[in-house]
Amino acid sequence: MSEIEIKKIVEPVETSDGAGVKLKRSIGTSAINYLDPFLLLDEFGSENKDDYMAGFPPHPHRGIETVTYMLEGKFEHKDSTGAKGIMSSGDVQWMKTGGGIIHSEMPAMSDGKLHGFQLWVNMPAKLKMSKPEYIYLDAKQIKIYKDEEKKIKIIAGKFKNYEGPIKGHNVEPIYFDIELREENEFKFDLPLNHNSFIYLVEGNIKIGKDKHQRIDGSSLIVLKKGKNLNVKALKRSKFLLIAGKPIGEAIARGGPFVMNTKQEILQAMEDYNNGNFIR
Ligand code: FE
Repeated sequence: MSEIEIKKIVEPVETSDGAGVKLKRSIGTSAINYLDPFLLLDEFGSENKDDYMAGFPPHPHRGIETVTYMLEGKFEHKDSTGAKGIMSSGDVQWMKTGGGIIHSEMPAMSDGKLHGFQLWVNMPAKLKMSKPEYIYLDAKQIKIYKDEEKKIKIIAGKFKNYEGPIKGHNVEPIYFDIELREENEFKFDLPLNHNSFIYLVEGNIKIGKDKHQRIDGSSLIVLKKGKNLNVKALKRSKFLLIAGKPIGEAIARGGPFVMNTKQEILQAMEDYNNGNFIR
């Protein structure tokens, strides 16, 4: 038996991105730059439209996958493959940027609450320059496991007989959105080699057997490798469990581009500036 314990608790950093959208960044910060294969995790959310109305006007990406999960609110997405659509509560957009995509994400709402997550998953060298792919998961397509104690939305991975729609993926991702009632436990076996984390959205939880500091809402909890994950809700809690198989390659970051070498980042910038970005 190897019970999973906490490796590190990271307080997200308040920052802004796009044209000034306020967000809380936890992966992709000085506290944790890269949790292979995860490059970035942002929680965006506000009830104040001034915090999000500016949106994310057109910008490029290369070498990564961006996974956007809307909890509340509406965003309109457009990209250089010609794809466009409105993302609303519960929807997921899993975009493989491959060699190049230019997209925009703008609020399709003029007030009200906006809340969601964006995760960046690295792509291995052999896939970085592939053709962009865009997987849109409507909230209704996402399977939900439900019992007396918990509710689990399965975006990727498998819980009991419920399997998420993202299949045949190189990092074998697990992405669950979990709601756990007070005093109940969530038990799950993780693949031994995956890197994993929990992002607590609200509530208060206890993980594993070791003593740890109180974990309140909006914190990133990086887990040690192991098999048996045991999470107890000290009060009704909501959290994301995300895990993936490490890629194990060097990374070079250049804002919206993540490649293996500095040279490839310079190439991406040159391609973008010369209009050769979209092939
Ligand atoms: Fe983007």
